[in-house]
Amino acid sequence: MREHDRRRLLKSAPGVLLAVTLPAVHGATLIGVRVWPSPDYTRVTLELDTPLPATHFTVSDPPRVVVDFEGIDLTVALRELVARVQADDPYIAGVRIGQNRPGVARLVLDLKLAVDAQVFALTPVGDYRHRMVIDLYPLQPPDPIVELIAQNARSTSAAQAARNARIASGTRPAAPSSGSASPPARPDASDPLAQWLQERTPAPRPQSGIARAEVGPDLRVDRVVTIAIDPGHGGEDPGAIGPGGTMEKEVVLAIARRLRDRLAAESNWRVLMTRDGDFFVPLATRVRKAAAVSADLFISIHADAFTSPEARGSSVFVLSERGASSVGARWLANQENRADQIGGVNIGGATVRAADREVSGVLIDLTTAAQIRHSRRLGTAVLSELGQLGPVHKPAVEQAAFAVLKAPDIPSVLVETAFISHPQEEEKLRDPLFQDQMAQALHIGIRNYFRAHPPGPRGAPA
Ligand SMILES: [Zn+2]
Repeated sequence: MREHDRRRLLKSAPGVLLAVTLPAVHGATLIGVRVWPSPDYTRVTLELDTPLPATHFTVSDPPRVVVDFEGIDLTVALRELVARVQADDPYIAGVRIGQNRPGVARLVLDLKLAVDAQVFALTPVGDYRHRMVIDLYPLQPPDPIVELIAQNARSTSAAQAARNARIASGTRPAAPSSGSASPPARPDASDPLAQWLQERTPAPRPQSGIARAEVGPDLRVDRVVTIAIDPGHGGEDPGAIGPGGTMEKEVVLAIARRLRDRLAAESNWRVLMTRDGDFFVPLATRVRKAAAVSADLFISIHADAFTSPEARGSSVFVLSERGASSVGARWLANQENRADQIGGVNIGGATVRAADREVSGVLIDLTTAAQIRHSRRLGTAVLSELGQLGPVHKPAVEQAAFAVLKAPDIPSVLVETAFISHPQEEEKLRDPLFQDQMAQALHIGIRNYFRAHPPGPRGAPA
């Protein structure tokens, strides 16, 4: 992407604050200030044309983070940040800027609660220059299981409302319901979350003929299954960008939400989204979230890009034990694995971030041939549905070393839904109808996989 394109995009992106160029003393220039609020953490990014020395400390009463930018006077430029923090930011209550002493600008973030503040610098990568990042993590990281319950409560009611609206508006014919309703899942004593959900979730209404006609008869699954949906990129990492300015991170989140609503409407299925907003999630954290809820399946959703605008079609990738299945697959895995650098991981960080490093370090050893075998079956089931929807880029499931697919014992696939670099496919990716068709194809593919390979008892992969 050319530099002026990125600047244009940054200006138009929601959540992006400022793409002005303000001179400061000593020749340093503030290129951009961005804030990414999310339930997981809030990130403040300052982008400059030179490295910016900074020190920081936290104060507990009232809670605040103080960052001093030394040898430079950015007071005027930093003032833009004040207006950019949203009132509903989970962590930041307000921002104050002052001249602490000559040549030192002081930024004070007044907080709504005590946080684990991580302040670190990122060297230039991709289209970014020098970045100074302030991450505000909750002292108690959100529990993925609690998140899972909350997400399903939200999406089940949303899916129900959408179904009701469809039925009321009569936009689709109501086919008679076929097949018998599946028996409710037996709460498994070894799965307290399933039990909790069973007790608190109202009995699922018999599904309308609409959903039944789309996906076929019920599955014979006698326990709750958990599916992790992973919308690629987010926050500082826009992913690939189409010729019309469409960002991969936005369209894949839209498709993921549609898929989530479909899957959550199935009886006995529950869904975890690794991100449900515009913020950056490190690759290992995505894997860790799926593992924390003992996901039965992991599906990472992306949109492809290539230097040639002619490349088009969907493709599906799984992990490879040794080597990539093609030069193209290796290239793509390298591209996707750069997400941590573009998005910005605190390599020197402590506590939570240490867990991320640990996971990424050992995962390759824990990846088993069985995981890859199941991932290939899942990938084949999904690719066959994608082939019904539109052109496929490659007729078979491809393999390469994608970091996000390294969850031990969880069948994991990465779907490149379409080429965002292809002008027509970029149009389609933005189209709500296509997004829904894509979600439906993924839904049916997942269903067909579970039909052929029902999940076994917990702790014993089928
Ligand atoms: Zn991607």
